[in-house]
Amino acid sequence: MRVCVVGSGAREHALAAVFARTADVVVTPGNPGTRVADGVTTTGAPALDIVADLYVIGPEAPLVAGLADELRSLGRSVLGPGADGARLEGSKAFMKELASAAGVPTASWSSFTEPGPALHYVRGLAGPYVVKTDGLAAGKGVLVTDDLDEAEADIIAKLSGAAFGDAGRSVVIEEGLVGEELSLLVLCDGQRVALLPPAQDHKRLGDGGTGPNTGGMGATSPVGAASAAVIDQAMDEIVLPSVAELRRRGIDYRGVLYAGLMITADGPKLIEYNVRFGDPEAEVVLLRCDGDVAELCRQVADGELVDEPQVRNEAAVCVVLAAPGYPFATSTGGVISGVEQAGTVEGVTVFHAGTALDDDGALRTAGGRVLAVTALGATLADASARAYQAADLIHFDGVQLRRDIGKPHLGSSSFGDRHLGSNGTAHVHTEA
Ligand code: AMP
Repeated sequence: MRVCVVGSGAREHALAAVFARTADVVVTPGNPGTRVADGVTTTGAPALDIVADLYVIGPEAPLVAGLADELRSLGRSVLGPGADGARLEGSKAFMKELASAAGVPTASWSSFTEPGPALHYVRGLAGPYVVKTDGLAAGKGVLVTDDLDEAEADIIAKLSGAAFGDAGRSVVIEEGLVGEELSLLVLCDGQRVALLPPAQDHKRLGDGGTGPNTGGMGATSPVGAASAAVIDQAMDEIVLPSVAELRRRGIDYRGVLYAGLMITADGPKLIEYNVRFGDPEAEVVLLRCDGDVAELCRQVADGELVDEPQVRNEAAVCVVLAAPGYPFATSTGGVISGVEQAGTVEGVTVFHAGTALDDDGALRTAGGRVLAVTALGATLADASARAYQAADLIHFDGVQLRRDIGKPHLGSSSFGDRHLGSNGTAHVHTEA
């Protein structure tokens, strides 16, 4: 099988590496990491010009823009929803409306285009306050704060277009949920879903979940705080009703459906849907997937999901190395050293996110998030130790990283995904 992966980040590097176990892989446009990955070729040709048996679209923007529809109109097999399903991520207001129609527990919310009613609404909430751009903002359009003044200033900055341009001219304001976050990623073939290993991402820049929201500074799988009962409850009350609601609306959703959840005192609640693998969640989820992942994804793309994901009985931890200034005014161009050496640490794979090779062959920083150092280990603590051992071998000026990913206070080091069968497989669910 020949698989075409669309995208240029660490997620696409991880997808390519996992598919390459059993398939030929071509990545467009890829990055310096995919260029040297075994069994992977990298090209600048657009996906529509590439002939492959399966297309896997990594980022949300081309999905929202309808790339999956274009490919399907040519008879190609695609892992990724059409523009109709991608609205789940492209419009937070649509996602909230679908969740309400499906009876899914989620934070109370309202959407606004005018500052007056928006400020009136936020003043009536108890806090913490959450202000989101309605449109896509590369994962950075969300403010979560206890400070009402900050929330009000953010509403004005977003609605005026000053903060995020047109993406911010409509905002969703919602009740802040308190608890432990959990990412449930399922493969959905339009009807059936297969649960992948649960993950937790760490979006704040600083240790202990402090500082600004980023695209993600690290991820772990499994998630100690998520018991089998909580995961089952989330599947029954959130994921499966949402898939049923998509079908009721005539949306044939074939791709990754990523439920971002908060485990609150009242049970799991939906924060958001993403319509693709998360980054850096993909790195930990995919490293824990065994077997023929390319074939599994082909079944999903063709609406004939029969296999169950094979899951390794190991933990995975991903630590992101970010450039100085990220997530604000990022400075790039710094020379990176130590990547090869880091990759020799047992259980470690270094995925490239924002890197570039200069004319002299030197690897330089070229984006906010530069590298995703990902490790497998017997426990989260083992995987974390390996990831940090490898991360410390990599150098570039002003490197930013969190020091607490996979460490005990962020979650127990025991396996949280006891829903996995003793043979390490997950269940395929069919919505009624
Ligand atoms: P989103 O772009 O919707 O995923 O939001 C980014 C991050 O903001 C999430 O991963 C959460 O950490 C946080 N967040 C979003 N919505 C809420 C909410 N209603 N309550 C608490 N935290 C939230």
